[in-house]
Amino acid sequence: MKRVDVAVVGGGLAGLAAALWLADRGARVALVEKRRRLGGLTWSFEREGRWFDNGQHVFLRCCHAYRGFLARIGAVGDVVVQDRLRVPVLSPSGRRAVIARDRLPAPAHLARALLGYRHLSVADRLRLGPAAWALLRLDPEDPALDRESFGAWLARHHQRPQAVTELWDLIVRPTVNLPAEEASLAMAARVFRTGLLDQADAGDIGWASVPLGDLHGRRAATALQQAGVEVSLGGAVASLERARGGWQLGFADGSLLAAEAVVLAVPPGPAAALAPAGSLPAVERLGASPIVDVQLVLDRRVTEEPFFGAVGSPVQFVFDRTRAAGVDPGAGQVLAVSLSAADDWVGRRPEACVAEVRGGLEALIPRMARARVLDAVVTKEQQATIRARPGTAAARPHPGLVAPGLAVAGAWCQTGWPSTMEGAVRSGWEAAGQVLATLAGRAPSSRPSSVDADPLVGVSSQEEVR
Ligand SMILES: Cc1cc2nc3c(=O)[nH]c(=O)nc-3n(C[C@H](O)[C@H](O)[C@H](O)COP(=O)(O)OP(=O)(O)OC[C@H]3O[C@@H](n4cnc5c(N)ncnc54)[C@H](O)[C@@H]3O)c2cc1C
Repeated sequence: MKRVDVAVVGGGLAGLAAALWLADRGARVALVEKRRRLGGLTWSFEREGRWFDNGQHVFLRCCHAYRGFLARIGAVGDVVVQDRLRVPVLSPSGRRAVIARDRLPAPAHLARALLGYRHLSVADRLRLGPAAWALLRLDPEDPALDRESFGAWLARHHQRPQAVTELWDLIVRPTVNLPAEEASLAMAARVFRTGLLDQADAGDIGWASVPLGDLHGRRAATALQQAGVEVSLGGAVASLERARGGWQLGFADGSLLAAEAVVLAVPPGPAAALAPAGSLPAVERLGASPIVDVQLVLDRRVTEEPFFGAVGSPVQFVFDRTRAAGVDPGAGQVLAVSLSAADDWVGRRPEACVAEVRGGLEALIPRMARARVLDAVVTKEQQATIRARPGTAAARPHPGLVAPGLAVAGAWCQTGWPSTMEGAVRSGWEAAGQVLATLAGRAPSSRPSSVDADPLVGVSSQEEVR
């Protein structure tokens, strides 16, 4: 039977981050992934010569762990980060607002954008400031915050329904993957404080300029190989048992792998099934929230914005994925419409999703009326994230050891962040650090230094859009 220091189960971002971190510190690591590819919930596929992602992924400048991971796998040049936060917000009425930050210290950097937010009445705009100020005084780590919904908190802070749907939901829905009325105040407070209000540049938005499968899967495969990690694809771990000197992993084909320690970086259901009984007691309370993406290949360009949000529309956020899809921008445009907290969309037939999105885009972008849809792709991820309602925080185990030599990791763990790429990498590093400390004869190790660094300094930024 093969024997390694650490077996990492799961090749999503948490598992990839953990495996690289351990290998970089001298551990003999094997990574086992049940699918035939790496990247977990971030993946791409080809259709008629064009590349599509399973769903648009964005990150913020404050996602230091994720950006450190990108730097580690050599993918910094494959993402774009805005110089300064700028989000155009369109509505079918033709009204347009731009949420952009000024060159002022936080939280004043957003004052002008909120006061000029034309989708709300002047009275509603004036009420935004005191609510933002109150958010700034919340401690996202305070367990009391997880007993209330963000929607209830907004109502107590004099935010009228129009302000909730046209502004607060615009931010909380794609980040927590729930609308304000259902989202935990703790998660919303984390997003608004860390992502927007504490530091002026924290909320600058970044995204991949290549397909996700290249950005994470392909790059990570090379990094793992260079780091000496043995990668095994296409075989699920079916059993996990304590053995002398560590753990024994069993596979469906009867083969076995022995490891001194294990990082279980799989989704909550499989983690609870594999971990010793009772070690992950509350994970079934985490629930799931879906994301649906509708991607249209058009015969012409209809917008010059790299992305925009929408209010009063079935469409939520729209991203230009032309280049990443491998399409010549002179010959057409590929738009990815991302629909978060998509409970109303997952049960619909793909043609119905496409028709509704197309209609929504026509109402937002005049040039859309003359465009021909050459192809349309609908992706539905039923379990995109946990369902971060009030009470969820207590059900999320902290990443790290749940039994001697056995650690869990994953975006669903309690990282203080919503289920995101940042949370996944943080959890992977945390689990890896705890596992390394338990390996015989090795000193406990600290977190990677890149978590505090700015690995994207000097990277090409989004071109100014006029
Ligand atoms: C459509 C969509 C859009 C999203 N948008 C964003 C975004 O904009 N920004 C953001 O930060 N996050 C976003 N997310 C969330 C983000 O993708 C996830 O939080 C993150 O990728 C999760 O990584 P993970 O490693 O924790 O889990 P996963 O990616 O789920 O990885 C777990 C891995 O374990 C494997 N596995 C399971 N069981 C076994 C087994 N028995 N044996 C071996 N392997 C096993 C699985 O195949 C999988 O590869 C989005 C997610 C989706 C689906």
